[in-house]
Amino acid sequence: MKIEKLEYIPIAIDRSQVFKIATGSELTAENVMVKVHGEGKVGWGNASPNSVTDETTGSILKAIKAMKKDIEGRDIEIEEFWMEQREKLPDDRAALAGVDIALYDLKAKIEGKRVFELFDGREKGIVTDRTIGIMERGETVQHAREFMDQGFKALKVKIGLDLYEDIRRLKAIRDEVSPTLDMWVDANQGYTVKEALSLCQKLNELDIEFIEQPIMVGDEDGLKEVSNRSTIPIMADESIKDHKDAERICYNDMADLINIKLMKCSGITGGRKIVEVLEDYGVNAMVGCMGEVVPSLAAAAHLHMTSGNIRYADLDSHFMLKETVTSGFEFKNGKLWTMDQPGLGIDVLEDKVEEYRMELDPE
Ligand SMILES: [Mg+2]
Repeated sequence: MKIEKLEYIPIAIDRSQVFKIATGSELTAENVMVKVHGEGKVGWGNASPNSVTDETTGSILKAIKAMKKDIEGRDIEIEEFWMEQREKLPDDRAALAGVDIALYDLKAKIEGKRVFELFDGREKGIVTDRTIGIMERGETVQHAREFMDQGFKALKVKIGLDLYEDIRRLKAIRDEVSPTLDMWVDANQGYTVKEALSLCQKLNELDIEFIEQPIMVGDEDGLKEVSNRSTIPIMADESIKDHKDAERICYNDMADLINIKLMKCSGITGGRKIVEVLEDYGVNAMVGCMGEVVPSLAAAAHLHMTSGNIRYADLDSHFMLKETVTSGFEFKNGKLWTMDQPGLGIDVLEDKVEEYRMELDPE
């Protein structure tokens, strides 16, 4: 595939409300939009700065600027290019994700296929949760009601700052909103092993589907202990960035489930490498997101369609933003759908991208 040109545009869009989790609070979501041109078509991706891979908008711009030199005018094969860049820029995972996603959108458009068809995937609507940040109990209940009314079938509740208040918030959703809706929780590394085990025990009667990352990244013995002793499945998120981490976690039986995020694993190529590990071990996964705009969420939805081991989706960051820069990623009857057209199945609204452009130079 001959790449003629690569462009990148940093954008900033505010959320409707400050999003608070155990590791911090954010109002604005920054992304770098990536546009690649080749063989008469255009592919889109985006990279999202985040604290898990320790990337900023400035570092992403710098990395993509370096990749631009390596890709323009070249005839590339995506996986080869990906491996070359992982070696050259090992710390720029989200930046590479943005380029990798744009390349898959382009490749699929050139071949007249939808992205999941490049991996023998099967079309389906993707049930996504809606996430509720850390907030007081009454507001938590109000948000849970609102999201159920909008048709969401699962809620992910952020916890991790106050064990007993967390339990009261979750119990309030069960008692006041719904005894049956799927409820997932994410502690974002907020607990010690002792607290996490106490939490698991106390949540037993609330029918929680899984608990995400209760333990600090780096404490893998702790993660394994909680996973082995908890009756509620434990999902690793911050502890697994790429297929090598997935292999270590699966081999050592450190978690029951894995959260695949394209910003951590450097895009669709890295996501597929994780899926291969999970299929080998028979471990299931979720596709998750950072503060992303739609192209990378659509890419994660396509990845979901390529493997039966991906059972859950937490693809909701775009719902939190005041405006969207795309069309075609529809939420209907509790499910997300990409359009039946080649590529990622979305359209990028370039006037909106321009409207939210940030004036920022690479670091
Ligand atoms: Mg998480």
